[in-house]
Amino acid sequence: MQSDLREQRTTINVSPTRDTFAPMLTMDTTNFAGKKALVRVDLNVPQDANGKVTDDSRARAIVRTVNKILSDGGSAILMSHLGRPKGKVNPAMSLKPVAEHLAVLLGKPVLFATDCVGADAKAKAAALKPGEVLVLENLRFHPEEEAGDEAFSKTLSELGDVYVNDAFGTAHRAHASTTIVAKFFPTAKLFGYLMQAEIDSVGKVLGDPQRPMTAIVGGSKVSSKIEVLENLLSSCNELIIGGGMANTFVKAMGGQTGASLVEEDLLDTARGIIEKAKAKGVKLHIPTDAVVADAFAETANTDQCAADAVPDGWMALDIGPKSIEAFRAAILGSRTILWNGPMGVFEMKPFQQGTIAIANAVAEATQKGAFSLVGGGDSVAAVNQFGLADKISYVSTGGGAMLEYLEGKVLPGIAAVQG
Ligand code: AMP
Repeated sequence: MQSDLREQRTTINVSPTRDTFAPMLTMDTTNFAGKKALVRVDLNVPQDANGKVTDDSRARAIVRTVNKILSDGGSAILMSHLGRPKGKVNPAMSLKPVAEHLAVLLGKPVLFATDCVGADAKAKAAALKPGEVLVLENLRFHPEEEAGDEAFSKTLSELGDVYVNDAFGTAHRAHASTTIVAKFFPTAKLFGYLMQAEIDSVGKVLGDPQRPMTAIVGGSKVSSKIEVLENLLSSCNELIIGGGMANTFVKAMGGQTGASLVEEDLLDTARGIIEKAKAKGVKLHIPTDAVVADAFAETANTDQCAADAVPDGWMALDIGPKSIEAFRAAILGSRTILWNGPMGVFEMKPFQQGTIAIANAVAEATQKGAFSLVGGGDSVAAVNQFGLADKISYVSTGGGAMLEYLEGKVLPGIAAVQG
């Protein structure tokens, strides 16, 4: 069943085993006619108290993959987690309302199995006809999912003929449905469109980027971004550091940071990164001025000052106008841009100007032909909040997964399909 998946129009030879060097299957080179595709998707959508989906972007993001399978004449068995039920059945975390919402997005009925394994799933999967969609109940109702249990993975695998992984958000987890299940599809496993787009986008930034390539890293702490910074030093020409983490760099260079967030135990790490940047010829941009406040609050008194002369009792909560100007110039001179982490406490109005300005600069550079990737958490929230997402080349859907990818780690969910 697994060896006749390729589109007839391609000239690629079908590999009977994975020991031969056949190119990987892709969505476009795969013909799903008559096949049941077992698709790991990310339907972990936010819901209100009644189970109504409040943000359906993740569900929308898988529609293209599902529609390709169906239009080929295949059927789709969708599996996902929702929330953190911790291995126990929790009706509040049922995927049923999400399946109902997906039916609206797909414009066709969606069947639902009350468990992801067992008699109901097996019978419904077996009876699935070409063009039909089945959603399985929350995978994490079973502790075996997060444990990456092999027998559970095998049971899941028996539901389909071909495995498609389209859940980038969980690609950094070696769970049963994201990773282990792939081994039961040695010649019939591939990435969905969404996953492929994430991989391609990171490739454009970390693979062989158009130069100059500028990385912008912000957010609260250096500690959560050390590996990202170290890895980016190997690929970028310019590195912009903003957000709370910039204070640690300012202090490491001898500046006065007042009551700003500083990680005292990472001053040496910051110095090491500064040295490494010098050695690698990477131009490092640290804020030269800041918007400061006398409290961590929207209603605090605010002022502006040099980033290395923050008065006692005051804290830097955003980058200042001179830093914005310098960062903007670097961004506009770039052909490739990666942005991870906000420049300030953008959730509070008085401290969002830096993040807005950088988002606008990235959008402007993109309009001029640069490739831009925004990924890994709060910078994604920021570009969405400021309505700029459609002006960025690619906005990643995976927070933790993107962060680990940017750290240079091999994501198990990706390796399992490539292997
Ligand atoms: P991260 O999750 O590490 O990307 O950090 C994002 C958080 O960093 C956001 O919630 C911001 O409010 C916060 N942040 C950004 N700049 C600062 C700053 N100067 N001081 C304290 N927190 C900040």
